[in-house]
Amino acid sequence: MASTTLENAFSKHSSSTAIIIPGKPALTVSYQKLATDVKAFQQQLAKVGVSPQAAVSIALPNTYEFIVSFLAASWQRAIAAPLNPAYKQSEFEFYIDDLSSAIALVPKGAFAQDAAAVRAARKYHAAIAECYYNGNQVVLDVKEAGRLAGKSAPVESAQPDDIALVLHTSGTTGRPKAVPLTHRNLLRTMRNIQETYQLTPKDRTMLVMPLFHVHGLLAGLLAPLASGGSVIVPIKFSASEFWRDFLQHQANWYTAVPTIHQILLKNPPPNPKPQIRFIRSCSSPLSPKTFHELEKTFGAPVLEAYAMTEAAHQMTSNPLPPGKRIPGSVGVGQGVEIKILDEAGNEVPQGKEAEICIRGENVTKGYLNNPAANASSFHKNGFFRTGDQGKKDPDGYVIITSRIKELINKGGEKISPIELDNVIAQNPAVSEAVSFALEDEIYGQDVGVAVVVKAGQKLNVEELKAWLAERVAKFKLPKKVFFTDVMPKTATGKIQRRLVAEAMLKKEQ
Ligand code: ATP
Ligand code: MG
Repeated sequence: MASTTLENAFSKHSSSTAIIIPGKPALTVSYQKLATDVKAFQQQLAKVGVSPQAAVSIALPNTYEFIVSFLAASWQRAIAAPLNPAYKQSEFEFYIDDLSSAIALVPKGAFAQDAAAVRAARKYHAAIAECYYNGNQVVLDVKEAGRLAGKSAPVESAQPDDIALVLHTSGTTGRPKAVPLTHRNLLRTMRNIQETYQLTPKDRTMLVMPLFHVHGLLAGLLAPLASGGSVIVPIKFSASEFWRDFLQHQANWYTAVPTIHQILLKNPPPNPKPQIRFIRSCSSPLSPKTFHELEKTFGAPVLEAYAMTEAAHQMTSNPLPPGKRIPGSVGVGQGVEIKILDEAGNEVPQGKEAEICIRGENVTKGYLNNPAANASSFHKNGFFRTGDQGKKDPDGYVIITSRIKELINKGGEKISPIELDNVIAQNPAVSEAVSFALEDEIYGQDVGVAVVVKAGQKLNVEELKAWLAERVAKFKLPKKVFFTDVMPKTATGKIQRRLVAEAMLKKEQ
């Protein structure tokens, strides 16, 4: 029988290795030990009063204690709410307040340092507990009991429709929205990912994405664990250590955003080259140029996938060989329905562009405390509106053409920034290009583009414009080109065009 909660999703693989934390020496944890440690931590959570559907904010980096506390919170029927440990106090405050967190888990030493997460948790009366591995088990060391003072709760058993996780969207198009995901939602995504990439206990995943977003958590950790494979978990991505860990622990695949792939292309593996079964790319558009460079350099199929927080991560992916993979396409739906719908919720003819919509067991039932967003995000037929514009090719492969909110509207002409980025990236002197809307008195909006020039290459505005004029229609030519050494990115390496635009305009002043 298929598993229905996170508690029984991993129970079948007891003696094999679940987690490897690289280091000297590396920490290797079997499925059996992981289950024992999670159970023990669950008991500690119950003892301090964490009750069903209480929010547990986890402000820990990618560590063994993150994994154990996340799983334990979900087993206890509580809601795990991972947070970027690098947030500033005001950011922690926003998330802790938004969920009325019962307890905040912070690294050892954070309390004595009066770290930002500690101050934010105190302001909203959440309990504060340091969390660390003592070589034997993961310890929950409560420093301040906050609203849990004097409480204890029974040890619980989660139900499929309990919320297991709340994550906020990245806030690319507005204020981050809180997305509740149930055990059922998560297990469906885990199964979809397992099936797409045919994950087995032989697979060894190199985790490089942070665990405080769905990409790292679902594709990098939970789906591999549900398959009985091993996951190698460095504390953070490091270009100089990536291949060393990859080879030493015999990883055979990884999943990352295009930014990380680009960094790895600049730091290729030493000889003998690792055997890579496949490389997964997700969360931001992968340019066909980077796709080809990756396949050539690493000798492995590159499978671009498409995901969002509301879908508990994956919606579509290119398939493994012998399936066809198409650069510039995010592939096909797996275990979900994907349709291109018009404003009224009707499917448009194949090849026509409209909004990409999704329906499936992995999709959230709706945002927390946000009736306005819920009313506008679902069609009557239950399809969720992604806010992304796209089309299907004759084989049903999805091509994302833009985010609806990021389309540049130049006097009524809609210009897709993704399309422009991909064309500009073809220029031999360009390493990265990000286009965005500029306010314009005449047209309302016009095109701006931020460009990183490759080391050792030269390019000026006129040369780039002349080169581009031969490749795109005149109305798409940028009004302004901003050369920059680094492209601003989010903590997960995502491009946010709004932030790039702000940074470029600020630099110009
Ligand atoms: P917000 O919803 O707050 O504006 P966000 O949509 O960036 O932020 P996420 O849920 O982290 O928050 O990201 C989902 C979005 O990422 C998708 O809707 C899509 O626009 C983009 N995305 C994901 N995968 C890809 C991909 N392979 N190619 C292009 N875009 C992608
Ligand atoms: Mg979104």
